[in-house]
Amino acid sequence: MKRLQDRVAVISGAASGIGLASARRFADEGAVVVGVDLDTDAIEALAKDTGGAAITCDVSDEHAVETMFAQVVADHGRLDIAFNNAGISPPEDDSILTTGIEAWERVQRINLTSVYYCCKYAIPHMREQGKGSIINTASFVAVMGAATSQISYTASKGGVLAMTRELGVQFAREGIRVNALCPGPVNTPLLQELFAKDEERAQRRLVHLPMGRFAEASEIAAAAAFLASDDSSYMTASTFLVDGGLSGAYVTPL
Ligand code: NAD
Repeated sequence: MKRLQDRVAVISGAASGIGLASARRFADEGAVVVGVDLDTDAIEALAKDTGGAAITCDVSDEHAVETMFAQVVADHGRLDIAFNNAGISPPEDDSILTTGIEAWERVQRINLTSVYYCCKYAIPHMREQGKGSIINTASFVAVMGAATSQISYTASKGGVLAMTRELGVQFAREGIRVNALCPGPVNTPLLQELFAKDEERAQRRLVHLPMGRFAEASEIAAAAAFLASDDSSYMTASTFLVDGGLSGAYVTPL
């Protein structure tokens, strides 16, 4: 499928995980992918692979984000897709009882303020074109509670979800669609390492998943490609859950 032929797509967090899988998927579907990350080597290697471009940018830095989107439009003539996906979930962000203000603020800045900046500086370019698709990565934790808390992460993703909904509504008549992608737990190297060390922690989570497994990054990338493409032309302001049935489950199969 070439649903994204010649579309210019900015993907943040493109060096790893969901962003990397999405960069490959978008490029396979014909997009010109601009990978954005702090990891210059990884995004330059990706750009070589996909024939796209790489811009090193800290998405929690307002000036850097404004400059990055301006550069994309200067270099490629347009901006069709912004997949605002970079995020962190550091171990210092834990229960509210132990999480300090520094960890709280760092997570808010990188997970939520960055999405505010990316939308703020992508939307004006899309308004000029009268068309665009913005996808903000939230999470299943924006709609469900966990007793294994990462309090700032959860609050940041709730913020991403609410902001996305509002932007989707505000810009709906200008041809700009804004959707929140809410992945369930994804089989990333970090998660594998964590659960390989601690089978009980893995089981505590897996028991809630109707499918009995975590997602692969490529499965989340497929959903992102759908939201980026005109196949989702009647979708905006949505909470798009790709969670293996997690949020719909009460009792799961044995
Ligand atoms: P990952 O750690 O594999 O990749 C995140 C990327 O973001 C990294 O390459 C990192 O360098 C980059 N990044 C971090 N801070 C940045 C900054 N300030 N500026 C630019 N780039 C920065 O993570 P992932 O698992 O692929 O997660 C991607 C998104 O999906 C995140 O927003 C995460 O919260 C969300 N998510 C992940 C899961 C999961 O289980 N992995 C589940 C739900 C939601």
